[in-house]
Amino acid sequence: LASADAAPGRTIVDVRGVKVGGRDLTLMAGPCGVESREQLFTVARYVAESGARLLRAGAHKPRTSPYAFQGLGEEGLELLDQARREFDLGIVTEATEVETFDGVERVADLVQIGARNMQNFALLKRAGRSSRPVLLKRGPAATLEEWLFAAEYVLSEGNRNVILCERGIRTWSAHARNTLDVSVIPAAKALTHLPVIADPSHATGRRDLVIPCARAAVAAGADGIIVETHCQPSQALSDGPQALLPSDFLQMVGQVTAIRDLL
Ligand code: PEP
Ligand code: MN
Repeated sequence: LASADAAPGRTIVDVRGVKVGGRDLTLMAGPCGVESREQLFTVARYVAESGARLLRAGAHKPRTSPYAFQGLGEEGLELLDQARREFDLGIVTEATEVETFDGVERVADLVQIGARNMQNFALLKRAGRSSRPVLLKRGPAATLEEWLFAAEYVLSEGNRNVILCERGIRTWSAHARNTLDVSVIPAAKALTHLPVIADPSHATGRRDLVIPCARAAVAAGADGIIVETHCQPSQALSDGPQALLPSDFLQMVGQVTAIRDLL
């Protein structure tokens, strides 16, 4: 179902009116996690002002350490719902388990399946029975084929609205958190009709590398960028070192939009 020859043309996934995979580059931006109403609304305000129409933020956070901030859960979802109404933004938020999927689904305009859950088959099947589009991140050590089979789990349950997201792969390189696999973007687009976007934040883990990698991903043909930004990165409860400052974020939007226009 994911194969390029299984559809007449490229799939365009509609996320609350935003056509992902269409002519325009899609921008999804926001903090790693929902931390407070003030934090979320401050970021949502400048994200909306940038022209981006999708706000990302996790309420359920899949953290490497069980002692790290795990997200605000239901309270975070409620804040996301309020942010949608206040700023007229679509909400991108992660579902980490089958048990809490219903709550995420109520609020999300796009349900994110995180890298660590790319082969959580029960979660993929649940997402496949959802009426919401799904953002499927590539596992940090997954081949393109494994990633597409993961998409197949969602598609084969009946949900045809899947967006793929390259977010960096496991690396021996010590300068960055992961290695952005730029070539997988055109390689995936050759094999599948699904939209492919990139996450330069988790791919690098470093604020100073995020914008160059965002530019590279768009130049390689990504249909969109999902990026982390925070009003006060030094105070962030997760992923502060990779969060773009508001001014950097606005600069990135201008640059990636200009690159897209050249293609
Ligand atoms: C995230 O988007 O905050 C996240 C945890 O991403 P990933 O699953 O790619 O690590
Ligand atoms: Mn994050």
